[in-house]
Amino acid sequence: MRFSLLPAMLAVQKAGAGCRHFDAQITNQIDRIGEHPFIIVRSLDPHDAAAHFVVCQTQNDTSEFIRKLGALPCFAQSKLLRAIVHALQLDIYEAADLLFSWTTSPVATPYERPLIGLPDGERKPWFYGYPAYEIGGSKSAANAPERQITTLISIFEAYDATDGNNRLRFAILEAIAFGLCRALGSNGRFEEASIFADRALRHSPHSMHLKTAMHALQLRLAGNEVPARLVKFIGHDNGYLKQFICPHAFENFEINHTGEVLTCAGPWISTGIGDFLTDSVDQIANSTTAKEIRKSIVAGSYKFCNHLECARMIQGTLPKREEVEKTPIGDAIARPDHRVDAVKELVYAFDKSCNLSCPSCRSELIAEKASTTIEKMRAVEEKLPLLLPNLRAIEINASGELFASRSSRKVLELIDDERCPNLRIDIISNGTLFSEEEWNKFPGIHDKIRSVRISTDAACKTTFEKLRRGASYESFLKNVLFLRSLRVSGIIPVLMFSFTYQVDNFREMREFLDFCYEMKADFAIFERLLNMVFSDREYRQKAVHHTGHPMHEEFLAIIRDPIFRAWRVWHDFDYPGVEKIAAQEAKRRFEWSKDPRPEKGLI
Ligand code: SF4
Repeated sequence: MRFSLLPAMLAVQKAGAGCRHFDAQITNQIDRIGEHPFIIVRSLDPHDAAAHFVVCQTQNDTSEFIRKLGALPCFAQSKLLRAIVHALQLDIYEAADLLFSWTTSPVATPYERPLIGLPDGERKPWFYGYPAYEIGGSKSAANAPERQITTLISIFEAYDATDGNNRLRFAILEAIAFGLCRALGSNGRFEEASIFADRALRHSPHSMHLKTAMHALQLRLAGNEVPARLVKFIGHDNGYLKQFICPHAFENFEINHTGEVLTCAGPWISTGIGDFLTDSVDQIANSTTAKEIRKSIVAGSYKFCNHLECARMIQGTLPKREEVEKTPIGDAIARPDHRVDAVKELVYAFDKSCNLSCPSCRSELIAEKASTTIEKMRAVEEKLPLLLPNLRAIEINASGELFASRSSRKVLELIDDERCPNLRIDIISNGTLFSEEEWNKFPGIHDKIRSVRISTDAACKTTFEKLRRGASYESFLKNVLFLRSLRVSGIIPVLMFSFTYQVDNFREMREFLDFCYEMKADFAIFERLLNMVFSDREYRQKAVHHTGHPMHEEFLAIIRDPIFRAWRVWHDFDYPGVEKIAAQEAKRRFEWSKDPRPEKGLI
């Protein structure tokens, strides 16, 4: 849809200052088309006087446009146009990387420039403000970085001032803003960079990379250190992540409630790799996306990973590349054509059904429709027996309540020594249905438990019943005492209670520790609130860990208490002036929780 023609045109004319305007050849070409295309590229050939045009009329025509652009002689060496193509394919990280590179090292790339706006005084009824591009010819590609940054800003302004083709126009803006964060950030222009990030976030509020860049910029602007893994979001890539290989993408499945399979927890990774309901196990493990994720990890970009929220990155528990090279994953690192033939770890989060409706997770009670349950049971019965013999560990159920889910209970029924002699089980539960009676219904799992984690979020009845909407504190306590007895007798090797800190509970974080000690917990886990259901505004009101929250300082004062440095306290604190868990220590705890032999000694 197109409207507000005049303001857009004027804004772009202004923004184009310093860039070349459309010339007669471009305007004549668009006259012939009759409408201003979303993207028009003029390809120049020094041996051929006639220019060639490649046109993307609207965002629905990108496939053909990308195919034709790819056939241009100098496209493979281009940076600007390849960046645009990556943005059209929603590969924002790669697009921004190319744009940053275009601003810092234009030499050795073909000549490519945008043309923005009509010449002064010229008016065209079709003019809509989108930039045009030209590539090739005999002109020099070299330009000072400062000039390239100014040009990039002009392109941003042009796309921001116009309208229409919003889905992909916003993707281009996201990529340019991220590129500018890196280009301006590498010149110490953090304030300016944050303005572009903020403007692009208005169009793409869920942009994982822009949020990360913004976080890093805010740290810099406040005079704080930027964690090594985030430095590349506001400047040059320091190569920090290249020293690690995350094994998740090589051996893990996480099945979420829709059936989408991911390589790790949903908010940590930007895309799924297949569908448990419709795809075979092999199709999922070796899908194009699964291979791309593995490739990005081997290359060290981790471009599908949420650098801001992945706990393994925050806590520094990613294994070193040289350690992983000695494991079976070494083959996958060395051979790009490697196929994953066995899934080692499964996170089963296939069913959101729960007996509660905790406000941080859902707005109402969720119980699956009977037809959905039947479909999921069919997938479990058909595919789980194929996975079980190779599985080392299963975590169940991170999405809803294990004992309230029919398909989760089916999984527990399928587990026995014959099918999966080496399997270890990590249970995640809200504890409110984890009674002795339920436990006794699944004898096959009793000697396979590795850990039980109870998501609690409170240290008193009032807060518990507010944040665990629908639960009774008294029956919860009764179940927790039963779990305590299983821990004391060694049937549960690791017992953990977790606490998602937020505005309603952060003042009882200390009391929660007392509760954990009393219940013989091995770990008290503190994690930041993630936004799963809230509007942006609601989330900002609840997320005390955010710098701008009115109670943030009070929150920091609480977590600076030395009691949070005890070995049993496992947290994701990554805030200025607060001691982080050292990477080595976090790794030791993580490994112990996965292999809790007493002789490995945690204390
Ligand atoms: S680094 Fe984090 S987000 Fe990326 S694959 Fe590993 S666990 Fe997942």
